[in-house]
Parts: sequence; structure tokens; C-alpha cells
Amino acid sequence: MNEDTIHDVIMVGAGPSALAAAVYTTREDIETILFEKGAIGGLAAITDQVDNYPGFAEGVAGLKLAEQLEKQAERFGAKIELGSVDKIEDHGEYKLLHTSDGPFKAKAVLIATGSDYKKMNVPGEEEYYGRGVHYCATCDGAFYRDKRLAVVGGGNSAVQEAIFLTRFTSHIDLLVRSTIRASDVLKKELQRMVDEGKITVHLATTVDEIVAVDKKVTHVAVHQDGQPVNVEVDGVFVFIGLSPNTAFLEGSGVELDELGLIKTDIELHTSVRGIFASGDVRSGATMQIASAVGEGATAALKIREYLEQPKE
Ligand code: NDP
Repeated sequence: MNEDTIHDVIMVGAGPSALAAAVYTTREDIETILFEKGAIGGLAAITDQVDNYPGFAEGVAGLKLAEQLEKQAERFGAKIELGSVDKIEDHGEYKLLHTSDGPFKAKAVLIATGSDYKKMNVPGEEEYYGRGVHYCATCDGAFYRDKRLAVVGGGNSAVQEAIFLTRFTSHIDLLVRSTIRASDVLKKELQRMVDEGKITVHLATTVDEIVAVDKKVTHVAVHQDGQPVNVEVDGVFVFIGLSPNTAFLEGSGVELDELGLIKTDIELHTSVRGIFASGDVRSGATMQIASAVGEGATAALKIREYLEQPKE
């Protein structure tokens, strides 16, 4: 490919948000290239079963959903490159992307690199991911009706999601490494759940291992005040923070929030003209596939408007 070619739009990431955006841009004859350094379909592709994506009454395997999104984008001409974007420079009318395949220029860029859930990195966590170990209560909470769960974390996310999960579970053990760091409002609500016997809080508790018998999670091995203890559960939800994939934006001028997520305006434009962001990497994202897809469609329409604007 000629290094001087200025492409219409380059999308960084090929998860649901970028793939949805690519369906919209390519259908309107906007030349579109996507760069993906991991799995096409992002986190969705490695999710066992997606039960809350509209249009699939019986749910859909994450991999199947990802494959369909990819096929749909490619049907209209999206080109997916397997490689990384390591740096972006703003040159006004075009953006220069330093990629593992060399330099690429584009009039507009969509960043849809997503966020990863922080992991505890303990035995059993990766092995039972999606089958007893989860990172999204809205997605997977309903699988635990009348079951016992452990929730790991002591920040706003863990407390809020533990409270949410009580609508399904028979009981929750909240495993907190040091102390509760949630807001006063959430602490009060948590106390109400503790008083009602729905949640038990374990402070100064570190997780050593998630243990399963015949591939079914049975308990979490923890150390509580230095003593080994087994907490019997049917599943574990981990909420210990997010890790947005934005390191490559250093020096690009794209503004991030205090968590490293990309700030956008209502039109999904970042602080740099011509660079847009959508999906789980965006500050304020809801971390849902349906929202990521919706934002992708919005970003594509805004990119079209941007490309049609006369340039000074
Ligand atoms: P936080 O960084 O606020 O909290 C992380 C929690 O996870 C802490 O309790 C921390 O423990 C614990 N933790 C970190 N690493 C490990 C580990 N390896 N093993 C066990 N525990 C660990 O992350 P959140 O995701 O809760 O929140 C992210 C941001 O989003 C925050 O700014 C939060 O305020 C915001 N938020 C706000 C909400 C609201 O206002 N309703 C709802 C959800 C999020 P330790 O204290 O020991 O480090």
C-alpha cells in the first residue's frame, strides 16, 4: 500500500463497536480499515454466552455474534488488518498512525480499543472464566438465581454490583482486600443488605484460588486476617478496576479522564479534531455490547459528517 495514500477512516480495534461503525461507513462508500492486535470481536468473542443482546431471544454465543459482526462489516468492504497501532500523530487534515505494518494516513480515526477488566491473577480465575468466574453483573448475574456468590473488591464497582446481584442470589460474600472504599450512599445501602442477611462483608481478605470440582466452582480459598479459610460459593464476580487500552495514545493530544478512558463530546469526538472514540474505551461507557454497537453507529454517522465538512 502506498505510504502517501490518505485513507478515509482507520478504526483502531475490531470489537463490536468498531465492527458496527464499519458496517455504517462502508455501506456509505467510506473506505474503512480496521486494525486489531488481539481477537476480532474483542471481549464479546471470548464471552461464552451473551444473553442480553437484543434480537437473540435464546441468547447467542459470544464467538458467533463476533463472527457475524465481522462478516457483516466485510460484506460491505471493510478491510481488517491484524496488527497493532502503536502511536497516532495529528497532522490536521490527516492523522498519521504508526502501525506494526508501517505508517498509515487517514482523514478520520475511530478509537474503539475497549477496556480489559483487571484480573486477580490467581489459580482458577482464567480457567473458569465465563463458567463460574465473571466480570459483568448485568451480563451474567441472572445465571445465579438462588445461588451463593462471592464478589471481590471494595470500591464503588464491587459494592454497587454486589447490591445489584442480591436481586438474584441467595447470599453474597463480599471479599475485600483491605477496607471498603465506596461512597457513603453505597456504604449505607450495603449496610442495609448486611442487616437483611443478604451480604456478608469479609475485610482484610485476599483470594488465593478459585476451586472447582468437575469443572463447577465450589469455593474460593482465601486468607482472612492471615488465616486460610474456604468460602463456599457457586460463582465469583470480580470488580477490582478497569484497564482501558489507551497507552498508545500518549503524545497524541487525545484527552483521557482520571481512569485513562477517552473523553468525548456528545458526538463522540475526542479532544483532537477528526479522532473519535466509541465503546468500552470511552469515558462514561456502560460496558455493554449493545451500547458499544450503538455508539459505533453514532460514531460512523458523525465521521461521515466530519468527512463531508469543507476543510479550511
Ligand atoms: P477502584 O480502583 O475504586 O477499587 C478497586 C478495588 O479493588 C479496591 O477495593 C481494591 O482494594 C481492590 N483490588 C484491586 N486489586 C485487587 C486485587 N488484585 N485483589 C483483590 N482486590 C483488589 O475500582 P472500581 O472499579 O471500584 O471503580 C473504578 C472507578 O469508577 C472509581 O473511580 C469509582 O469511584 C468509579 N465508580 C463509581 C460508581 C458510582 O459512583 N456509583 C460505580 C462504579 C464505579 P485495595 O483498596 O486494597 O487496593
